[in-house]
Amino acid sequence: MPPVVYQDKCKGCGKCEEICPGDLMELDENKKAFCRAKRDCWDCMACVKACQFEAIETRIPYQLGYYPARLIPKMKEKEIEWTCIDINGKVDKFLVKTHNK
Ligand code: SF4
Ligand code: SF4
Repeated sequence: MPPVVYQDKCKGCGKCEEICPGDLMELDENKKAFCRAKRDCWDCMACVKACQFEAIETRIPYQLGYYPARLIPKMKEKEIEWTCIDINGKVDKFLVKTHNK
């Protein structure tokens, strides 16, 4: 599933464009990010994690969770806080330590 960009939250910083390993993210003429080749996105979530404004989300593939299900990573200093929302709106949060710092 391609990333969903919330236009009202996007500040046009270009971090998602920089980090996408598939070179799929781009800024439009209004400096808002979008995925220019949705079928090529492999859900690595690099763009989601890079966005400091929480403007991007990916949706869990339909076959696994149906469209309303979401998985939202939030970068913290030494860990990622993952929020998992299932199709019934049940929210689970879990922390994963990173090796970046
Ligand atoms: S990283 Fe976030 S705020 Fe920056 S351009 Fe991408 S979506 Fe917009
Ligand atoms: S999820 Fe990964 S492959 Fe897909 S647009 Fe974002 S950075 Fe690129």
